[in-house]
Amino acid sequence: MLHWTLEVIVVFGAVVLSVVAFKHRKGEDAFLCQDCRFNDPEKCLKEVRPYAVECTSYRKVKAK
Ligand code: SF4
Repeated sequence: MLHWTLEVIVVFGAVVLSVVAFKHRKGEDAFLCQDCRFNDPEKCLKEVRPYAVECTSYRKVKAK
């Protein structure tokens, strides 16, 4: 019985952590550049553009 209880706790914890990570992720699409305000060849010279998944310069496009 203890074994099953521990498994349920671990699975529940993993689900909660996944949901929290998903809600706090940067960007709204597969790549950060898709909704980054610098996604322009003249504004961003990084080699990873337009397919960045990690970028310290990422800034979300301002809502209009
Ligand atoms: S700053 Fe980063 S996220 Fe933004 S366009 Fe350039 S590479 Fe992409």
